Amino acid sequence: MNFNTDIRYLKGVGEKRALLLAKLGVGKVGDLLRLYPRLYEDWSKIFTIDQAPLDRPVCIKAKVLKAVSEHRVRPGMVIYKTEVSDGRSLMQITIFNNKYAAQKLAVGKEYLFWGKLSHNLILYEMNSPEIENPDGNNIIRPVYPQTAGLTSRMLANLIKSVLKSLDKKTLDPLPPQLLEKHNLLPLNDALLNIHFPKDFAMLERARHRLIFEELLFLQLGLYLMKGRDKTASGAFIEKDYTHDFVSLLPFKLTGAQERCIAEATKDMAKAHPMSRLLQGDVGSGKTVVAAALIYNVVKNSFQAALMAPTEILAQQHYKTFSQILEAKGIKIALLTGSTTAKEKKLIKDSLADGQIQLVIGTHALIQRDVAFLNLGLVITDEQHRFGVNQRALLGEKGVNPHIYVMSATPIPRTLALFIYGDLDISILDELPPGRQKIETYAVGSDLRERALNYVKKHLDKGLQAYIVCPLVEEGESEMAAANQYFQELSQGFFADYSVGLLHGKMKAKDKDSVMKNFVDGQVRLLVSTTVVEVGVDVARAAIMVIENAERFGLSQLHQLRGRIGRGSHKSTCILISDAQNEESKRRLEIMTQTNDGFLIAEEDLKNRGPGDFFGSRQHGLPELKIADMLKDADILKTTRLEAENLLKADPELLQEQSKALKTAVKDLFGLKAMSALN
Ligand code: ADP
Ligand code: MG
Repeated sequence: MNFNTDIRYLKGVGEKRALLLAKLGVGKVGDLLRLYPRLYEDWSKIFTIDQAPLDRPVCIKAKVLKAVSEHRVRPGMVIYKTEVSDGRSLMQITIFNNKYAAQKLAVGKEYLFWGKLSHNLILYEMNSPEIENPDGNNIIRPVYPQTAGLTSRMLANLIKSVLKSLDKKTLDPLPPQLLEKHNLLPLNDALLNIHFPKDFAMLERARHRLIFEELLFLQLGLYLMKGRDKTASGAFIEKDYTHDFVSLLPFKLTGAQERCIAEATKDMAKAHPMSRLLQGDVGSGKTVVAAALIYNVVKNSFQAALMAPTEILAQQHYKTFSQILEAKGIKIALLTGSTTAKEKKLIKDSLADGQIQLVIGTHALIQRDVAFLNLGLVITDEQHRFGVNQRALLGEKGVNPHIYVMSATPIPRTLALFIYGDLDISILDELPPGRQKIETYAVGSDLRERALNYVKKHLDKGLQAYIVCPLVEEGESEMAAANQYFQELSQGFFADYSVGLLHGKMKAKDKDSVMKNFVDGQVRLLVSTTVVEVGVDVARAAIMVIENAERFGLSQLHQLRGRIGRGSHKSTCILISDAQNEESKRRLEIMTQTNDGFLIAEEDLKNRGPGDFFGSRQHGLPELKIADMLKDADILKTTRLEAENLLKADPELLQEQSKALKTAVKDLFGLKAMSALN
């Protein structure tokens, strides 16, 4: 058996269990072994009954004082009871319906009981404890993430048996000299001890080894995908046309926009291709910066591509860019999932022969068969919505095109450096003039009607509004919830108004027409899910109501809120929430106090929940299973150096001894198709 063995071939795993395991992302033995415990039960720390804490599960060693009694309380429910003592206090044990556990207990013998202790006036009690013989082994037991039908126990047993029959020669992807240098456990030992730690010291070493390897794979992958920093520029921008471009605009650039444009045009006149990140809060005017760069590139006879994460946004960009650039005879095309096959063919042909100078689109742009004559600049908008691999794929289309990524989600500098390597950063830190602060209020649902009336009042004044539906819980259907919510509003409170609905599961064509109607002002009120989060720009939209606001991340609320306050109208955002817990209240309070996206992102960082590894999913990186890029910053630094060393010796990991390493890197990124990692 090795890491690639399908789990369906394991003893005890049938079709049904395989399906449940698939829910946890487990398909192969390797996935199973990398389903790390969520936490551990410490059976090595034994409490006396009178000193054990009452609020969490504990281990107690006690002697059974009397024979287990059996009580049939109703059909199908048998309760077993007994009394145990640790020599200082008595404890009553109650077991429900588990004959097997009850039979195990013999009078006069000592056992370990694991469970939550409670205490009423007369006695201590433990319900449904787990029971073990005290064999003297200190045991630390794994607790796994669970899914219905699969208990942590079952997973532990399965993993234990796999670890036993795993091919001992399983290749450790880390080279031996690295293990030695950093005192790392070999893979087999690390896996054994992450699941069934011998003691806490070994657990720590196992964790360290696995964090080390995960961060190393991550950085190797990122380096392999880059590798372009040293190449020659494929699109040398000789002449700066920014001045010319400015005359096309109905407004004056902000100082920050001028600076950011200058930083990028300077890059593009260098010997190596540009790799630059533009960070700017929502509404800071990133689109115009992109337009200026595209104009420069096209005027220097290269093609440009702009990739947006959603169809709606791509369409909006298409409109904006057409307005600005088509007057100058620049040919622009829109390529998305809903472009007809016939159109697509035409566009592809014209991209290949250079007739189209700018293509705007969604990830349809990165399809294999889209080729360019001389792609000079690739821009991705709202980059955090893309995977690194997607971005890299577009960058591979030209001969070393310049790469420019734009983001409204600030990334701590260390992390940006790491995600983008030697990526340079421009910061758009000035809002266009005349912007009003978005007044934000957090209210309970008792004020919901008032909030909706407030919306009405503004619709009557000719303005527009968004209402963001509650975020659905996992397992609920976004579509069903959105539809129902929409029905309620459009037939009830807002029956006299034209209301539109926008959600992620709609056909692109329908999304498009709803959005168009909203932009035109035919639809006055847009009920939407978070699909409006990115980039959409409607100047007359001045009010936003967000339901169940506590369910959203702060940065996400900030992005959503960024849809209003884009014109010169006074804008208001109302966060509705009945959350009682102090933390939620405090977070919403922050939204009412500041409009500063960077500050909000920092708050978000402080409050990320367990397992919500900052910087991975949010920034298009593969999901990390054990490492935490902020907490493990030291290891991150070390592995960065080691990744560089490894690649110095074997730049594309082609040598025999790098084989396992490369496979591991590919597995982490899930990238079979990426040429850089082939
Ligand atoms: P974001 O950074 O969120 O992508 P946009 O590029 O969509 O922001 O710009 C937001 C709005 O600000 C747009 O309507 C745009 O036309 C306008 N805008 C951008 N730059 C300026 C400027 N210098 N002066 C006035 N309005 C501007
Ligand atoms: Mg934008």
